[in-house]
Amino acid sequence: MKKDCFIIKGDIVYSESKTELKEIKDGYLICGEGKSLGTCKRKEEIPEASRDFELYDFTGKLIIPGLYDLHIHAPQYAFRGMWMDMELIEWLNSHTFPEEAKYGDREYSEKAYKIFVRDLLKSPTARFCAFSTVHRETTELLMDMVEDSGLKAFIGKVNMDRNCPDFLRESTVSSYEETLRWLEDTEKRNYKNVRPILTPRFIPSCTDELMKKLGGLIEERGLALQSHLSENLSEVEWVHELCPESENYGDAYERFGLFGGHGNPTIMAHCVWSGDEEAKLMKKNGVYVAHSPSSNNNIASGIAPLRKFMDMGLNIGLATDVAGGSTVSVMRIITDAIQASKLYWRLVDDRKKPVTFPEAFYLATVGGGSFFGKTGSFEKGYEADILILSDEDIPTAIEGLSLSERLERYAYIAGDRPVEHKFVAGKMLF
Ligand SMILES: [Zn+2]
Repeated sequence: MKKDCFIIKGDIVYSESKTELKEIKDGYLICGEGKSLGTCKRKEEIPEASRDFELYDFTGKLIIPGLYDLHIHAPQYAFRGMWMDMELIEWLNSHTFPEEAKYGDREYSEKAYKIFVRDLLKSPTARFCAFSTVHRETTELLMDMVEDSGLKAFIGKVNMDRNCPDFLRESTVSSYEETLRWLEDTEKRNYKNVRPILTPRFIPSCTDELMKKLGGLIEERGLALQSHLSENLSEVEWVHELCPESENYGDAYERFGLFGGHGNPTIMAHCVWSGDEEAKLMKKNGVYVAHSPSSNNNIASGIAPLRKFMDMGLNIGLATDVAGGSTVSVMRIITDAIQASKLYWRLVDDRKKPVTFPEAFYLATVGGGSFFGKTGSFEKGYEADILILSDEDIPTAIEGLSLSERLERYAYIAGDRPVEHKFVAGKMLF
């Protein structure tokens, strides 16, 4: 039997296009060397060369691609679902920063990150982009733990040298030097699953001098970058005061070469208040929107113009943004994104039609997945990130539901559940 070659039998659903799902009832997904070799409806259609592959028989279960979380804060996982009665800046100062300071302590970090990685492993997430804290050593600890889990991720040591409490603030020099040391350490470790991503927290917490240094690093080393953009109105106003010469918040990053456009993968979380000019710059530079509706709702940031971004053809993925978001499940974020788009259409702009279930599923799979490479689909050549879901124990009297109906129903009423089995790049994690 060939190594890492297998066939999965079950009820297969994945995106056929941005607006339609492909369904294969009792079908076969053929995988070899970590990639999809394609799907087929009947056993006889399995190509000769794949007939002796190991068969995983998941008859009756839903088989879908892995989901991708483009924005999550690992150290905030411990306090998800708490302290939601405030807006961003107050929330950061009164709860988030004091909690993140605890990650200077290795023992606490180990305890907290163990829970984070364990829960993420069980969730529908196959790959993700995470912030840690300013602390280099425990960022490396988190990277080691994620590496061992088999999940794939970009993880970033946070940079902050202004507008945060003394107990978290780095000097400009130490922020830069610790980042260099972290990148060196990461290189030495030869990770297979984890990669570093530059992570200036956001414009208000980084001086121009630090941003210039990080811009230099990006140019020199071709690193990926993640940050926050136009999340909250008072934050946008603050950035305007801090960077009066910038045309918009995105331009404040662009001036330091930190807003994509050099072939460096770049993610900006939220973009709730991104105007047309900012969105055009994102489009031009290939910047990814990490759409985080659960968080935007919880900390009252607003409703992001998702349909506008889709119409403009921006790169978009979904994100939990724990702990602004209260769930670690991107399956739940699919339904949150749909619900938020309905409010936008009803309350803000009735020309921007609500996002449909197949559209939101596309964003959670192929949309966000493209940040990591060719992932998020079962079409031939895509990396084999696969979830096995069970909906047998949520019965309904209605018979003959289509696979799309079953998947939609699962997302709405069982979206927070652990998945039954997960494969990442063709490796079965459980
Ligand atoms: Zn965030």
